[in-house]
Amino acid sequence: MTERQTPRVRFAPSPTGFLHVGGLRTALYNYLFARKTGGTFVLRIEDTDRTRIVEGAVENLLKTLTWSGLEFDEGPGKGGGYGPYVQSERLNLYREHRDILMDARQAYPCFCAPERLEEMRKQQQKMRIAPKYDRHCLKLPPEKVSELLAAGTPHVIMMKVPESETLTANDDIRGDVEFISDRLDDQVIVKSDGYPTYHLANVVDDHLMGITHVIRGEEWLPSTPKHILLYRYFGWSVPQFAHLPLLLNADRSKLSKRQGDVAVEEYRAAGYLPEALVNFVALLGWNPGDEREIFSLEELVKEFSLERVGKSGAIFNVDKLKWLNQQHLRGLPTTSILEKVKPSLTAAGLDYRDDAYLAKVIDAMKDRLSSFDDFHSFALYFFRDPENYDETARRKNWGPESGKQVGILLSRLETVPEFSEQSLEGTVKELAAELGISPGRIIHAVRLAVSGISIGPGLYELMTVLGRETVLRRLRSAIRILG
Ligand code: GLU
Repeated sequence: MTERQTPRVRFAPSPTGFLHVGGLRTALYNYLFARKTGGTFVLRIEDTDRTRIVEGAVENLLKTLTWSGLEFDEGPGKGGGYGPYVQSERLNLYREHRDILMDARQAYPCFCAPERLEEMRKQQQKMRIAPKYDRHCLKLPPEKVSELLAAGTPHVIMMKVPESETLTANDDIRGDVEFISDRLDDQVIVKSDGYPTYHLANVVDDHLMGITHVIRGEEWLPSTPKHILLYRYFGWSVPQFAHLPLLLNADRSKLSKRQGDVAVEEYRAAGYLPEALVNFVALLGWNPGDEREIFSLEELVKEFSLERVGKSGAIFNVDKLKWLNQQHLRGLPTTSILEKVKPSLTAAGLDYRDDAYLAKVIDAMKDRLSSFDDFHSFALYFFRDPENYDETARRKNWGPESGKQVGILLSRLETVPEFSEQSLEGTVKELAAELGISPGRIIHAVRLAVSGISIGPGLYELMTVLGRETVLRRLRSAIRILG
């Protein structure tokens, strides 16, 4: 590209299922690059592999991108001067370009049956040579080719790959990456169903849509020399490439479903904030050059550059995501958390009394939550009496004396004039002193009695939020068990 061109970048997912966190990162880096450079962010749907299409995937993708806050400038449903933005609506363009290559003899039809190709591969394996198409159909006499085509013989279109050439991709992250053409096979560019393969459709569209920078995952690096050849055959200039590092599991294997969730949808459903997930994926391969880790989307736009994207694989660490979510959650006003948790509490059949009560619960829990899901795991007791008491905590915090101790406390709490943190603390400490035990013994026993678990906000805060009536009722129930 020439220096003065305004950057145009694209996110080009195939609608084969849920958006993967790796896909979100690719979308994000393209978005950030566009926003930072005053360029344009295009969304293009690459749906030419008809066998892999999943129904509803495009809708889901659009929903997920909207949720993440990554707004595109041109794309399906949005328009722009380079549409349509869905490849299956651009088939005429691929046909035209196929013909250009065929006319220039840079592509040829191949009629070989799968059995023949299979046999050929077996022979090559036996002879220990790298599997490569033997160009059987390239050697067919032209009359034979015309005859087969006229008869409607099933075929694919192959693109020729020249011998003994070094193809160089200019990559913003990796520098010059060289490929030896001898290691590449001739490539199928149109399948027997008439649809173009990824290579043809991707290059034709990147060119026709004026894409200046191709920012995508490292898994596409091996396709790049094939694309460079296509650009050459068409006489087009090659865009600038940037291949993003692989995402890895903690054991450095390629990120996979087996070791945890990989779909953005799953994190969304688990109650993670889009701000946190975006912050998290931003750091998978990029860093600001200093110790900062918490960024809003606007801050990322300001800080992002491809120069600060590394080459080596980025480890996907869910604990880091949890931590970031906690940081972003803390920054949210109580009212917006309230609006987020209300529907899920209602859906779970939990009665949160009223907004004022729920707001108090949120204030008490806010610093302890790493996701909205935690609310259901660790805050349930604010909405219903414990049905049982955590076994381990029971063994640890309830002793033979606990029934008596909690009993005395109960009778004092029935009459304490004010049910505030201060007076509760005074009452507990006074009782502990009288009994000659540490306040901790009473605190732990009471916490378990009123919440059923052993973790949560400070006991006095917890009790004031619950209110006197609830606390007394729960203490009575626990005493029945404690004896
Ligand atoms: N359709 C490809 C994908 O699913 C796009 C790869 C590219 O960006 O060139 O990721």
